[in-house]
Amino acid sequence: MSIDNEDLRNCPARITLDAAQLAFFNELPADAPSVQSELGCELELGHPGSHAALGHHVDTTTWWIQWTLSASEINPYTWCPAKTPTQAESRGEEDCALFDGHPGNHVSLRLHRRDEAA
Ligand SMILES: [Zn+2]
Ligand SMILES: [Zn+2]
Repeated sequence: MSIDNEDLRNCPARITLDAAQLAFFNELPADAPSVQSELGCELELGHPGSHAALGHHVDTTTWWIQWTLSASEINPYTWCPAKTPTQAESRGEEDCALFDGHPGNHVSLRLHRRDEAA
Protein backbone atom coordinates (compact mmCIF):
# COMPACT_ATOMS: atom_id res chain seq x y z
CA MET A 1 0.00 0.00 0.00
CA SER A 2 1.41 3.35 -1.02
CA ILE A 3 0.23 6.52 0.67
CA ASP A 4 1.68 8.51 -2.24
CA ASN A 5 -1.12 7.27 -4.46
CA GLU A 6 -3.93 7.92 -2.03
CA ASP A 7 -4.99 11.30 -3.37
CA LEU A 8 -5.29 9.88 -6.85
CA ARG A 9 -7.94 7.46 -5.68
CA ASN A 10 -10.13 10.17 -4.16
CA CYS A 11 -12.78 11.96 -6.14
CA PRO A 12 -11.47 15.51 -6.87
CA ALA A 13 -14.86 17.26 -6.72
CA ARG A 14 -15.18 20.16 -4.30
CA ILE A 15 -18.09 22.27 -3.08
CA THR A 16 -18.37 25.64 -1.42
CA LEU A 17 -21.22 25.79 1.08
CA ASP A 18 -23.67 28.66 0.87
CA ALA A 19 -24.73 30.79 3.82
CA ALA A 20 -27.85 28.77 4.54
CA GLN A 21 -25.89 25.53 4.63
CA LEU A 22 -23.26 26.98 6.93
CA ALA A 23 -25.98 28.30 9.21
CA PHE A 24 -27.56 24.87 9.34
CA PHE A 25 -24.34 23.30 10.55
CA ASN A 26 -23.61 26.06 13.01
CA GLU A 27 -26.96 25.43 14.68
CA LEU A 28 -26.44 21.73 15.21
CA PRO A 29 -26.09 20.79 18.89
CA ALA A 30 -22.47 19.73 18.84
CA ASP A 31 -19.21 21.03 20.21
CA ALA A 32 -17.29 19.87 17.19
CA PRO A 33 -15.25 22.44 15.25
CA SER A 34 -17.31 24.54 12.90
CA VAL A 35 -17.64 23.18 9.44
CA GLN A 36 -15.34 24.38 6.69
CA SER A 37 -16.95 26.41 3.95
CA GLU A 38 -15.18 24.43 1.26
CA LEU A 39 -15.29 20.65 1.33
CA GLY A 40 -14.00 17.90 -0.92
CA CYS A 41 -15.80 14.77 -2.00
CA GLU A 42 -14.84 11.86 0.23
CA LEU A 43 -15.85 9.06 -2.11
CA GLU A 44 -13.54 7.09 -4.33
CA LEU A 45 -12.53 8.33 -7.77
CA GLY A 46 -15.12 7.49 -10.40
CA HIS A 47 -17.95 6.75 -7.96
CA PRO A 48 -21.53 6.72 -9.26
CA GLY A 49 -24.19 9.16 -8.08
CA SER A 50 -23.85 12.37 -6.11
CA HIS A 51 -20.64 13.63 -4.57
CA ALA A 52 -20.58 13.58 -0.79
CA ALA A 53 -18.65 15.30 1.99
CA LEU A 54 -19.08 14.91 5.71
CA GLY A 55 -20.16 18.23 7.19
CA HIS A 56 -20.82 17.32 10.80
CA HIS A 57 -21.75 14.49 13.07
CA VAL A 58 -23.80 14.45 16.25
CA ASP A 59 -23.57 11.21 18.20
CA THR A 60 -24.40 8.50 15.67
CA THR A 61 -25.95 10.83 13.13
CA THR A 62 -23.71 12.09 10.37
CA TRP A 63 -24.69 15.01 8.17
CA TRP A 64 -23.46 14.76 4.61
CA ILE A 65 -23.50 17.40 1.92
CA GLN A 66 -24.38 15.68 -1.31
CA TRP A 67 -24.14 17.48 -4.58
CA THR A 68 -24.28 17.23 -8.34
CA LEU A 69 -23.44 19.81 -10.99
CA SER A 70 -26.84 21.43 -10.53
CA ALA A 71 -27.86 21.02 -6.90
CA SER A 72 -26.69 20.32 -3.38
CA GLU A 73 -28.42 19.17 -0.22
CA ILE A 74 -27.63 18.11 3.32
CA ASN A 75 -28.81 14.70 4.44
CA PRO A 76 -28.52 12.74 7.70
CA TYR A 77 -27.05 9.25 7.67
CA THR A 78 -25.71 6.73 10.09
CA TRP A 79 -22.11 5.62 9.71
CA CYS A 80 -21.35 2.91 7.22
CA PRO A 81 -21.61 -0.36 9.21
CA ALA A 82 -18.38 -1.77 7.76
CA LYS A 83 -16.11 -2.39 10.72
CA THR A 84 -13.16 -4.45 11.65
CA PRO A 85 -14.18 -7.49 13.75
CA THR A 86 -12.14 -6.32 16.71
CA GLN A 87 -13.95 -2.97 16.86
CA ALA A 88 -17.48 -4.25 17.26
CA GLU A 89 -18.46 -1.97 20.14
CA SER A 90 -17.03 1.36 19.10
CA ARG A 91 -15.73 3.06 16.04
CA GLY A 92 -12.08 2.35 15.43
CA GLU A 93 -9.42 3.60 13.10
CA GLU A 94 -10.06 0.85 10.58
CA ASP A 95 -13.78 1.47 10.32
CA CYS A 96 -15.21 2.89 7.14
CA ALA A 97 -15.39 6.70 7.32
CA LEU A 98 -18.34 7.04 4.97
CA PHE A 99 -22.12 6.94 5.35
CA ASP A 100 -24.42 3.95 5.30
CA GLY A 101 -25.22 2.99 1.72
CA HIS A 102 -22.40 5.03 0.13
CA PRO A 103 -21.36 4.17 -3.43
CA GLY A 104 -17.93 2.80 -4.18
CA ASN A 105 -15.46 1.11 -1.89
CA HIS A 106 -15.17 1.54 1.84
CA VAL A 107 -12.65 4.13 3.01
CA SER A 108 -10.84 3.42 6.24
CA LEU A 109 -11.00 6.09 8.88
CA ARG A 110 -7.30 5.70 9.61
CA LEU A 111 -6.21 6.56 6.06
CA HIS A 112 -8.96 9.03 5.44
CA ARG A 113 -8.38 11.19 8.49
CA ARG A 114 -4.60 11.12 8.60
CA ASP A 115 -4.35 14.78 7.62
CA GLU A 116 -6.62 15.92 10.44
CA ALA A 117 -4.84 13.80 13.04
CA ALA A 118 -1.45 15.34 12.33
ZN1 LIG B 1 -17.23 12.71 -5.82
ZN1 LIG C 1 -18.27 1.84 3.88
